[in-house]
Amino acid sequence: MNSEISTLLADIKEQILYLRELGAENLTVELPEISFVSKSKIQSSQSEISQERLERFVPADFELPKIEPAKPKVSNVENTSARQSLLESTKLSRLPSLPKRNSFSTNQKTEPAGEVEMPKTIIDETPPLFGDFKQTLPESNETIEDIRLDIGNCVRCPLHEGRTKIVHSTGNFAADLMFVGEAPGANEDAEGVPFVGRAGELLNKIIASIGLKREDVLVGNVNRCRPPGNRTPTLPEAHTCRPFLKREIAVVRPKVIVVLGNTATQNLLDTKVGITKLRGEFQDYFGINVMPTFHPAYLLRDPSKKREVWEDMKKVRDFLNKT
Ligand code: URA
Repeated sequence: MNSEISTLLADIKEQILYLRELGAENLTVELPEISFVSKSKIQSSQSEISQERLERFVPADFELPKIEPAKPKVSNVENTSARQSLLESTKLSRLPSLPKRNSFSTNQKTEPAGEVEMPKTIIDETPPLFGDFKQTLPESNETIEDIRLDIGNCVRCPLHEGRTKIVHSTGNFAADLMFVGEAPGANEDAEGVPFVGRAGELLNKIIASIGLKREDVLVGNVNRCRPPGNRTPTLPEAHTCRPFLKREIAVVRPKVIVVLGNTATQNLLDTKVGITKLRGEFQDYFGINVMPTFHPAYLLRDPSKKREVWEDMKKVRDFLNKT
Protein backbone atom coordinates (compact mmCIF):
# COMPACT_ATOMS: atom_id res chain seq x y z
CA MET A 1 0.00 0.00 0.00
CA ASN A 2 2.76 2.42 1.02
CA SER A 3 4.65 1.81 -2.16
CA GLU A 4 1.50 2.33 -4.24
CA ILE A 5 0.92 5.71 -2.59
CA SER A 6 4.55 6.60 -3.17
CA THR A 7 4.33 5.68 -6.83
CA LEU A 8 1.12 7.69 -7.20
CA LEU A 9 2.68 10.68 -5.50
CA ALA A 10 5.73 10.53 -7.75
CA ASP A 11 3.48 10.34 -10.82
CA ILE A 12 1.47 13.38 -9.70
CA LYS A 13 4.66 15.31 -9.14
CA GLU A 14 5.91 14.35 -12.57
CA GLN A 15 2.72 15.74 -14.06
CA ILE A 16 3.20 19.01 -12.13
CA LEU A 17 6.71 19.31 -13.54
CA TYR A 18 5.34 18.61 -17.01
CA LEU A 19 2.69 21.32 -16.63
CA ARG A 20 5.39 23.73 -15.46
CA GLU A 21 7.42 22.90 -18.56
CA LEU A 22 4.32 23.72 -20.60
CA GLY A 23 4.36 27.22 -19.09
CA ALA A 24 2.04 26.88 -16.18
CA GLU A 25 4.35 29.08 -14.14
CA ASN A 26 1.82 30.17 -11.58
CA LEU A 27 0.32 26.81 -11.00
CA THR A 28 -0.20 26.33 -7.33
CA VAL A 29 -0.41 22.83 -6.10
CA GLU A 30 -2.24 21.91 -2.99
CA LEU A 31 -0.74 18.73 -1.78
CA PRO A 32 0.21 19.73 1.71
CA GLU A 33 -0.90 16.93 4.01
CA ILE A 34 -0.74 14.23 1.44
CA SER A 35 2.78 15.09 0.35
CA PHE A 36 4.28 15.18 3.81
CA VAL A 37 2.49 12.15 5.07
CA SER A 38 3.48 10.29 1.97
CA LYS A 39 7.09 11.31 2.26
CA SER A 40 7.42 9.98 5.74
CA LYS A 41 5.68 6.81 4.65
CA ILE A 42 8.14 6.48 1.83
CA GLN A 43 10.96 6.82 4.30
CA SER A 44 9.68 4.26 6.73
CA SER A 45 8.52 1.73 4.21
CA GLN A 46 11.76 1.67 2.22
CA SER A 47 9.77 2.31 -0.92
CA GLU A 48 10.57 0.38 -4.04
CA ILE A 49 10.96 3.65 -5.95
CA SER A 50 14.63 4.20 -6.64
CA GLN A 51 16.48 7.27 -5.46
CA GLU A 52 17.08 8.22 -9.08
CA ARG A 53 13.39 8.05 -9.89
CA LEU A 54 12.46 10.19 -6.90
CA GLU A 55 15.07 12.80 -7.79
CA ARG A 56 13.72 12.98 -11.31
CA PHE A 57 10.09 13.30 -10.27
CA VAL A 58 10.09 15.27 -7.06
CA PRO A 59 10.31 19.06 -7.22
CA ALA A 60 13.50 20.54 -5.79
CA ASP A 61 11.75 22.18 -2.92
CA PHE A 62 10.61 18.86 -1.55
CA GLU A 63 12.88 17.21 0.92
CA LEU A 64 13.79 13.84 -0.53
CA PRO A 65 13.62 10.75 1.58
CA LYS A 66 16.78 8.66 1.68
CA ILE A 67 16.36 5.08 0.57
CA GLU A 68 18.29 2.71 2.76
CA PRO A 69 20.57 0.25 0.91
CA ALA A 70 19.18 -3.27 0.89
CA LYS A 71 20.23 -5.56 3.74
CA PRO A 72 23.12 -7.85 2.78
CA LYS A 73 22.22 -11.46 2.08
CA VAL A 74 22.77 -13.79 5.00
CA SER A 75 25.12 -15.91 2.92
CA ASN A 76 27.42 -12.92 2.30
CA VAL A 77 27.91 -12.19 5.98
CA GLU A 78 31.17 -13.60 7.29
CA ASN A 79 31.09 -12.49 10.89
CA THR A 80 29.15 -15.03 12.92
CA SER A 81 27.47 -12.70 15.41
CA ALA A 82 26.38 -10.37 12.60
CA ARG A 83 25.23 -13.43 10.72
CA GLN A 84 23.30 -14.65 13.72
CA SER A 85 21.52 -11.33 14.22
CA LEU A 86 20.71 -11.23 10.54
CA LEU A 87 19.32 -14.71 10.68
CA GLU A 88 17.25 -13.79 13.68
CA SER A 89 15.76 -10.87 11.80
CA THR A 90 14.70 -13.06 8.90
CA LYS A 91 12.22 -15.84 8.42
CA LEU A 92 15.07 -18.35 8.22
CA SER A 93 15.39 -18.39 11.96
CA ARG A 94 11.80 -19.50 12.26
CA LEU A 95 12.19 -22.51 10.01
CA PRO A 96 12.29 -25.85 11.83
CA SER A 97 15.70 -27.47 11.67
CA LEU A 98 15.98 -30.51 9.46
CA PRO A 99 17.13 -33.86 10.78
CA LYS A 100 20.85 -34.30 10.32
CA ARG A 101 22.51 -37.17 8.54
CA ASN A 102 26.04 -38.30 7.89
CA SER A 103 27.51 -37.16 4.64
CA PHE A 104 30.67 -39.23 4.24
CA SER A 105 32.66 -36.10 3.63
CA THR A 106 36.42 -36.36 3.95
CA ASN A 107 36.20 -33.90 6.83
CA GLN A 108 33.66 -35.96 8.67
CA LYS A 109 34.46 -36.93 12.20
CA THR A 110 34.78 -40.66 12.69
CA GLU A 111 32.35 -42.56 14.85
CA PRO A 112 33.22 -43.17 18.51
CA ALA A 113 35.83 -45.86 19.14
CA GLY A 114 37.83 -44.43 16.24
CA GLU A 115 35.82 -46.20 13.58
CA VAL A 116 36.12 -44.88 10.07
CA GLU A 117 32.60 -44.90 8.78
CA MET A 118 33.51 -45.48 5.13
CA PRO A 119 36.76 -45.77 3.20
CA LYS A 120 37.88 -42.25 2.36
CA THR A 121 39.43 -42.91 -1.01
CA ILE A 122 36.17 -43.58 -2.75
CA ILE A 123 34.13 -40.58 -1.90
CA ASP A 124 32.12 -39.04 -4.70
CA GLU A 125 31.98 -35.36 -3.96
CA THR A 126 30.96 -34.25 -7.42
CA PRO A 127 28.80 -31.15 -6.96
CA PRO A 128 25.21 -31.33 -8.12
CA LEU A 129 24.55 -29.96 -11.56
CA PHE A 130 20.81 -29.49 -11.34
CA GLY A 131 18.72 -29.02 -8.24
CA ASP A 132 18.34 -31.89 -5.87
CA PHE A 133 21.28 -34.22 -5.60
CA LYS A 134 21.45 -37.56 -3.89
CA GLN A 135 24.86 -38.69 -2.78
CA THR A 136 25.39 -42.27 -3.81
CA LEU A 137 27.00 -45.00 -1.79
CA PRO A 138 30.73 -45.00 -2.44
CA GLU A 139 32.39 -48.14 -3.82
CA SER A 140 33.87 -50.24 -1.08
CA ASN A 141 37.32 -51.69 -1.52
CA GLU A 142 37.04 -54.13 1.35
CA THR A 143 35.35 -57.51 1.86
CA ILE A 144 32.98 -58.92 4.44
CA GLU A 145 35.95 -60.92 5.81
CA ASP A 146 37.93 -57.70 6.26
CA ILE A 147 35.06 -56.30 8.30
CA ARG A 148 34.78 -59.46 10.41
CA LEU A 149 38.51 -59.37 11.08
CA ASP A 150 38.22 -55.76 12.12
CA ILE A 151 35.38 -56.57 14.51
CA GLY A 152 37.45 -59.41 15.97
CA ASN A 153 36.70 -60.29 19.56
CA CYS A 154 35.15 -56.87 20.02
CA VAL A 155 35.35 -55.07 23.36
CA ARG A 156 34.61 -51.59 22.02
CA CYS A 157 31.45 -51.10 24.09
CA PRO A 158 30.12 -52.47 27.40
CA LEU A 159 27.75 -54.89 25.66
CA HIS A 160 30.63 -57.32 25.14
CA GLU A 161 30.61 -58.08 28.87
CA GLY A 162 27.28 -59.91 28.78
CA ARG A 163 27.45 -61.57 25.39
CA THR A 164 27.78 -65.23 24.60
CA LYS A 165 28.35 -64.83 20.85
CA ILE A 166 28.81 -61.90 18.53
CA VAL A 167 25.85 -61.95 16.15
CA HIS A 168 27.03 -61.00 12.68
CA SER A 169 24.81 -60.40 9.66
CA THR A 170 23.91 -63.65 7.92
CA GLY A 171 22.36 -64.77 4.65
CA ASN A 172 23.03 -63.85 1.06
CA PHE A 173 25.86 -61.32 0.74
CA ALA A 174 24.86 -60.66 -2.86
CA ALA A 175 21.24 -60.00 -1.93
CA ASP A 176 19.05 -57.27 -3.38
CA LEU A 177 17.18 -57.10 -0.11
CA MET A 178 18.53 -56.64 3.40
CA PHE A 179 16.72 -56.53 6.75
CA VAL A 180 18.19 -54.64 9.68
CA GLY A 181 17.01 -55.06 13.26
CA GLU A 182 18.08 -53.63 16.57
CA ALA A 183 20.21 -56.10 18.51
CA PRO A 184 20.29 -59.82 19.32
CA GLY A 185 17.98 -61.31 21.92
CA ALA A 186 18.62 -64.36 24.08
CA ASN A 187 18.23 -66.94 21.30
CA GLU A 188 20.41 -64.99 18.90
CA ASP A 189 23.06 -64.50 21.58
CA ALA A 190 23.13 -68.25 22.20
CA GLU A 191 23.30 -69.24 18.53
CA GLY A 192 25.28 -66.34 17.05
CA VAL A 193 22.65 -65.87 14.32
CA PRO A 194 20.26 -62.90 13.99
CA PHE A 195 16.50 -63.31 14.18
CA VAL A 196 16.19 -66.93 15.23
CA GLY A 197 13.72 -66.47 18.11
CA ARG A 198 9.99 -65.80 17.86
CA ALA A 199 10.56 -62.43 16.20
CA GLY A 200 12.80 -64.25 13.73
CA GLU A 201 10.07 -66.75 12.88
CA LEU A 202 7.74 -63.88 12.14
CA LEU A 203 10.44 -62.18 10.06
CA ASN A 204 10.71 -65.38 7.99
CA LYS A 205 6.98 -65.17 7.32
CA ILE A 206 7.31 -61.51 6.31
CA ILE A 207 10.06 -62.48 3.89
CA ALA A 208 7.95 -65.33 2.53
CA SER A 209 5.01 -62.97 2.05
CA ILE A 210 6.85 -61.35 -0.86
CA GLY A 211 7.91 -64.64 -2.41
CA LEU A 212 11.42 -64.86 -0.98
CA LYS A 213 13.19 -67.26 1.35
CA ARG A 214 15.38 -66.36 4.28
CA GLU A 215 18.46 -67.54 2.33
CA ASP A 216 17.69 -65.04 -0.43
CA VAL A 217 18.12 -62.02 1.79
CA LEU A 218 20.69 -60.62 4.15
CA VAL A 219 19.73 -60.10 7.80
CA GLY A 220 21.65 -58.07 10.36
CA ASN A 221 21.38 -55.75 13.32
CA VAL A 222 22.68 -52.35 14.37
CA ASN A 223 24.30 -53.95 17.43
CA ARG A 224 25.95 -57.36 17.36
CA CYS A 225 25.94 -58.06 21.09
CA ARG A 226 22.87 -58.65 23.22
CA PRO A 227 21.96 -55.78 25.55
CA PRO A 228 21.24 -56.98 29.10
CA GLY A 229 17.55 -57.85 29.56
CA ASN A 230 16.99 -57.07 25.86
CA ARG A 231 16.97 -53.35 26.57
CA THR A 232 17.38 -50.90 23.70
CA PRO A 233 21.06 -50.23 22.97
CA THR A 234 22.23 -46.83 24.20
CA LEU A 235 23.28 -44.24 21.64
CA PRO A 236 27.02 -44.74 22.28
CA GLU A 237 26.55 -48.52 21.99
CA ALA A 238 24.67 -48.15 18.73
CA HIS A 239 27.13 -45.62 17.37
CA THR A 240 30.05 -47.87 18.21
CA CYS A 241 28.64 -50.84 16.33
CA ARG A 242 26.80 -49.32 13.37
CA PRO A 243 29.88 -48.47 11.31
CA PHE A 244 30.33 -52.21 10.76
CA LEU A 245 26.79 -52.50 9.46
CA LYS A 246 27.32 -49.53 7.17
CA ARG A 247 30.53 -50.99 5.85
CA GLU A 248 28.71 -54.26 5.13
CA ILE A 249 26.03 -52.35 3.27
CA ALA A 250 28.72 -50.67 1.18
CA VAL A 251 30.12 -54.08 0.25
CA VAL A 252 26.78 -55.79 -0.46
CA ARG A 253 24.99 -52.78 -1.99
CA PRO A 254 21.45 -54.15 -1.71
CA LYS A 255 18.73 -52.46 -3.72
CA VAL A 256 16.44 -52.16 -0.71
CA ILE A 257 17.02 -52.19 3.03
CA VAL A 258 14.06 -52.83 5.30
CA VAL A 259 14.75 -51.29 8.68
CA LEU A 260 12.78 -52.94 11.44
CA GLY A 261 11.59 -50.65 14.22
CA ASN A 262 12.81 -47.39 15.70
CA THR A 263 16.39 -48.25 16.62
CA ALA A 264 17.32 -49.60 13.20
CA THR A 265 15.53 -46.79 11.38
CA GLN A 266 16.99 -43.99 13.42
CA ASN A 267 20.50 -45.38 13.35
CA LEU A 268 20.67 -46.10 9.67
CA LEU A 269 18.98 -42.89 8.57
CA ASP A 270 20.56 -40.77 11.29
CA THR A 271 17.27 -39.25 12.27
CA LYS A 272 15.28 -38.72 15.42
CA VAL A 273 12.00 -39.06 13.58
CA GLY A 274 10.07 -42.07 14.81
CA ILE A 275 9.05 -45.20 12.97
CA THR A 276 5.34 -44.35 13.04
CA LYS A 277 6.01 -41.25 10.96
CA LEU A 278 8.57 -42.79 8.63
CA ARG A 279 7.15 -46.21 7.93
CA GLY A 280 5.57 -46.99 4.62
CA GLU A 281 7.55 -44.49 2.54
CA PHE A 282 10.90 -45.18 0.93
CA GLN A 283 13.70 -43.18 2.49
CA ASP A 284 17.12 -42.65 1.00
CA TYR A 285 20.39 -44.03 2.26
CA PHE A 286 23.01 -42.87 -0.22
CA GLY A 287 20.95 -43.95 -3.19
CA ILE A 288 19.63 -47.14 -1.59
CA ASN A 289 15.89 -47.31 -0.98
CA VAL A 290 15.19 -47.82 2.70
CA MET A 291 11.78 -48.97 3.87
CA PRO A 292 11.13 -48.40 7.56
CA THR A 293 8.53 -50.74 9.00
CA PHE A 294 7.46 -52.10 12.35
CA HIS A 295 9.72 -54.55 14.17
CA PRO A 296 8.42 -58.16 14.23
CA ALA A 297 8.68 -58.15 18.04
CA TYR A 298 6.21 -55.26 18.05
CA LEU A 299 3.90 -57.23 15.78
CA LEU A 300 3.97 -60.07 18.29
CA ARG A 301 2.66 -57.65 20.90
CA ASP A 302 0.20 -55.91 18.55
CA PRO A 303 -0.78 -58.19 15.64
CA SER A 304 -3.15 -55.52 14.27
CA LYS A 305 -0.05 -53.72 12.96
CA LYS A 306 0.70 -56.59 10.56
CA ARG A 307 -1.53 -54.94 7.96
CA GLU A 308 0.77 -51.92 7.77
CA VAL A 309 3.84 -54.14 7.48
CA TRP A 310 2.15 -56.01 4.64
CA GLU A 311 1.48 -52.71 2.86
CA ASP A 312 5.13 -51.73 3.30
CA MET A 313 6.37 -55.08 2.04
CA LYS A 314 4.22 -54.84 -1.07
CA LYS A 315 6.00 -51.58 -1.91
CA VAL A 316 9.33 -53.34 -1.42
CA ARG A 317 8.26 -56.25 -3.62
CA ASP A 318 6.98 -53.94 -6.36
CA PHE A 319 10.17 -51.91 -6.33
CA LEU A 320 12.34 -55.03 -6.53
CA ASN A 321 10.22 -56.43 -9.35
CA LYS A 322 10.62 -53.38 -11.51
CA THR A 323 14.39 -52.96 -11.04
N1 URA B 1 15.41 -58.52 17.48
C1 URA B 1 16.34 -57.89 16.76
O1 URA B 1 16.25 -56.67 16.56
N2 URA B 1 17.33 -58.59 16.25
C2 URA B 1 17.42 -59.88 16.40
O2 URA B 1 18.37 -60.43 15.88
C3 URA B 1 16.46 -60.54 17.15
C4 URA B 1 15.45 -59.85 17.69
